[in-house]
Amino acid sequence: MADPSNEPASSSGVSEQASTPAAVAAAATPMREDVEKAEDFLEPDKKRRKVVRADGNKTEQKLEHRLGGILCCAVCLDLPRSAVYQCTNGHLMCAGCFTHVLADARLRDELATCPNCRIEISKTSASRNLAVEKAVSELPAECQYCAKEFPRNYVEHHEEAMCEERISSCKFSRIGCPWRGPNHERLEHEAHCVHPHRTGADVMEALLDIDARTLEERRLYDNVFDLLSYEKITFNDLQMKPYRTDEFVHKLFYETSRFSAFNNQWVVKARINSSQRDPTQSSERDMTYQLILKSKTTYPLPLHYLILKGPFGDMKVQPRIHRFEFTEQDNESPYLPLPLPDTAECNRLLAAKAINFRLIMFLASK
Ligand SMILES: [Zn+2]
Ligand SMILES: [Zn+2]
Ligand SMILES: [Zn+2]
Ligand SMILES: [Zn+2]
Repeated sequence: MADPSNEPASSSGVSEQASTPAAVAAAATPMREDVEKAEDFLEPDKKRRKVVRADGNKTEQKLEHRLGGILCCAVCLDLPRSAVYQCTNGHLMCAGCFTHVLADARLRDELATCPNCRIEISKTSASRNLAVEKAVSELPAECQYCAKEFPRNYVEHHEEAMCEERISSCKFSRIGCPWRGPNHERLEHEAHCVHPHRTGADVMEALLDIDARTLEERRLYDNVFDLLSYEKITFNDLQMKPYRTDEFVHKLFYETSRFSAFNNQWVVKARINSSQRDPTQSSERDMTYQLILKSKTTYPLPLHYLILKGPFGDMKVQPRIHRFEFTEQDNESPYLPLPLPDTAECNRLLAAKAINFRLIMFLASK
């Protein structure tokens, strides 16, 4: 696999690129359009409330909220979670949007420009802004369980290990106790849990479950190592943005710009609760995604692919390998589940302006 650092202006992991003029011309829609469309809708609730408050009485707004508006990414308007880049005029972009802009320009065979001021940007002309990165990590973020505010660089640790409202399991879950609840109720439950008093035969059932799960993980592990010895492997760090269908009831979907892999053009699309007509009617949320081959191919492309959180995203996705043979006629994979841990994680992704992830593709050679 090629070292991505040898490829300064692309987010692609291999050195292949859209080489024919037609492929380049057919490539991604301009960034600006993406941004404007994305902003038309899906303003996260929390943000909308802040904006309303800001219009109502500017002086009442807390310093950290005003700073949030200043330190956010100029493209996706979210507070950056990893590196922050700036153009030579000082416009800020999160790492995900920055690579997205560079990759888009690469595909269109144009120079990348700052979405704000149109000055040329590249990996060498843009610089990190460490002061902004540090300032953002000190801004308060809300714990998703107890709603208390903590510095952003601490909130993850708090949610995982400290919060008394975090969802935890009974210590007897390994022998079949299904109890899950807020951490502050766990000790009380464990003191009265019936599972330690069950018979060996009952416990066996729970152990078989654990064995089945271990076996499945083992298979995934073996499969990954098989795939890593394929001749043709590529990865792309992608960004999905929200759009609405133009049906009577507008439906939300996500789509990436076009990207190139194995000398072809591709996009990834994702849907929310794809089995339901109106996902807002349900409190359970899930995401499915499909991979679409956008260019014509004269020979079949038997692919394995998987989605990971990648270097610029924070999606808590469990890696699952899918396979599909792309042909001239069959150029869209079915919608397959994006394995997220729960509805809360899905909602968290929906609240962000863009979803960053890494797509790894393996091409089986015949
Ligand atoms: Zn951004
Ligand atoms: Zn700029
Ligand atoms: Zn908490
Ligand atoms: Zn229990």
